[in-house]
Amino acid sequence: MSASTPPRDYYEVLGVSRDAGESEIKKAFRRLARELHPDVNRDDPQAEEKFKQAAEAYEVLSDADRRATYDRYGHEGLRSGGYAPNFDAFGSVADIFEAFFGGGGGGGGFGGLFADAFGGGGRATGPVQGGDVSVSAEIDLAAAAHGTSAQVGYEAIVLCDRCHGNGAEPGTPIETCPQCQGSGQLRSVVRSPFGQVMRTTVCDRCGGDGRVPQKPCGRCDGRGRRVDHVNVSVEVPAGIADGQRIRVSGRGHAGERGGPPGDLYVQMRVREDSRFVRDGDDLLTAVDVSAPLAALGTTVQVPTVDEPVELEIPAGTQPHETLVLRGRGMPALRGRRHGDLRVVVNVIVPRRLEREQRDLYEQLAGSLTDQNLRSDEGVFAKLRRALGG
Ligand SMILES: [Zn+2]
Ligand SMILES: [Zn+2]
Repeated sequence: MSASTPPRDYYEVLGVSRDAGESEIKKAFRRLARELHPDVNRDDPQAEEKFKQAAEAYEVLSDADRRATYDRYGHEGLRSGGYAPNFDAFGSVADIFEAFFGGGGGGGGFGGLFADAFGGGGRATGPVQGGDVSVSAEIDLAAAAHGTSAQVGYEAIVLCDRCHGNGAEPGTPIETCPQCQGSGQLRSVVRSPFGQVMRTTVCDRCGGDGRVPQKPCGRCDGRGRRVDHVNVSVEVPAGIADGQRIRVSGRGHAGERGGPPGDLYVQMRVREDSRFVRDGDDLLTAVDVSAPLAALGTTVQVPTVDEPVELEIPAGTQPHETLVLRGRGMPALRGRRHGDLRVVVNVIVPRRLEREQRDLYEQLAGSLTDQNLRSDEGVFAKLRRALGG
């Protein structure tokens, strides 16, 4: 597949419904393979590409683990699960036929084996690290301030707990693979445009291990791995910010052939708190103070991520003046420093007045002199304060 082609839905490619059974999928692929075979379909320049798409769709949907991953997470899930279609490694469509159907070098040998472990197609054997898994978790701001543990659940490929990944029913032996005599590879002579060539493929019986269980494990059908729901408790450090990722080593998909597992990445979402705006490690909030109290000075309650605290509003505090509560912001993710809580004073001028209050305000207004209202602030400073600079 060329990298620029957006992946198509596998069920659509094979023309089967999402609940199609194993045999239906096999039949659909065989039918498509016949239609798109290069010997039959010489005129359609798209045939090769279509065939590769069909082969990839079959490769995924005929494998229970891969299909489960695809159903849940789509193409993205397969890629992050470590699956990579590798049909470009084949020289031609005939080679793919060979790999799928065996025998006859791309002739009519449809009765041949369906290579269950086709994922091998040219891939190196040996330990392979499992794919990474990405999930997200949401916490509130207070939890982000104090640190917390978040529970996440996800589907992952895990080692079978019955056979511990070796694919054998407990207590039964594992033997040298009779098909490849333990080499893990099959060699065959293939017809090609350049004559007969020797081709090496991964043994489809043992998947390249060279060893097969005498009696396959009853829980995983001898695969040694299966898709399972995994629950993990993730330690979220104090000070985490929205959008940051936490890596949990080794909690991704299980590795293959003894390879280490992949990692789990948890994308953290920190819910907005209607009382605060976060600015790095600082928090911003606003408190309402009436115009007379701003002039007289007062004490107000200010919310924090913990308990509310008292804040003294000095006499003569101006609208939008910012008072700082040191260390009452978010903790820094690294180190012991804390951000500040910046409190913007929202001076409220009474919107309507009773008759008596009106008299008092008139009295007050009449008594105020330049001395009372004098300010050294220039226009820039006034605007900066009003605009939150
Ligand atoms: Zn098992
Ligand atoms: Zn083998």
